[in-house]
Amino acid sequence: MGTQVKDVFISPDAPKTLLLDKHADYIAAYGCKKDDYEYTLSEYLRMSGIYWGLTVMDLMSQLPRMNRQEIVDFIKSCQHECGGVSASVGHDPHLLYTLSAVQILCLYDSVDALDVDKVVEYVKGLQQDDGSFAGDKWGEIDTRFSFCAVATLALLCKMDAINIDKAVEFVLSCMNFDGGFGCRPGSESHAGQLPDVCYSWWVLASLRIIGKIHWIDKDKLRSFILACQDEETGGFADRPGDMVDPFHTLFGIAGLSLLGDEQIKAVNPVLCMPEVVLQKLCLQPELLS
Ligand code: ZN
Repeated sequence: MGTQVKDVFISPDAPKTLLLDKHADYIAAYGCKKDDYEYTLSEYLRMSGIYWGLTVMDLMSQLPRMNRQEIVDFIKSCQHECGGVSASVGHDPHLLYTLSAVQILCLYDSVDALDVDKVVEYVKGLQQDDGSFAGDKWGEIDTRFSFCAVATLALLCKMDAINIDKAVEFVLSCMNFDGGFGCRPGSESHAGQLPDVCYSWWVLASLRIIGKIHWIDKDKLRSFILACQDEETGGFADRPGDMVDPFHTLFGIAGLSLLGDEQIKAVNPVLCMPEVVLQKLCLQPELLS
């Protein structure tokens, strides 16, 4: 008999050990197959895809396998006149991809590849009177964009460019009576609906940030995450038996890092980046756990 975790069945022969070499091969190969159907389909989120891939490689101490120059050149070509960065060449800039670009360049200690002053102007220009942030010029508001804005500026050591008090006030206005936060004032609280590897990360990281990681059963979560590995191709899926992808591979590895796996570098729960990278930047001490 396998273990029944709500609606997920973990088969008795599901992987129980961490297949690090397989995962590194999977990510290294993913960036090479540029004519691949799957790769073409993901163009609209290419910048975030590179962040997921490079961060997980760095956490596994495999970053040198990736093509640094090609990636830095690509990021430069995605910065727009307004300062924002797009997912790929010819797409519209957005806060999410601007954060991904800055995160990638921090891994490479090459933030100056972007026009940093323009990035700061772009982020600043998206803050609204109520303290919230629009994701781009089209104006959609979401607390996740507040995170993107603040994280981008924190990494650039330019937090003073925005009105922090207003930004905090807006996020607090999204807190509900159940103690959770919605995307906007009055919208439903959301942490993700378990079980899914990426939600393991979101929930685990939140608990780590508030110092309550001991509230969960670490061994059970570890077995669930390990069961989401594909033993043949490498990579993690959202749940056992599904198709693997770089997004869930990052959050699988990052989740195992938070659970204390010593084969993986320590991950920062706020920014989902290696702690060693952040220690080199002049970050606010409360971002470094
Ligand atoms: Zn997921």
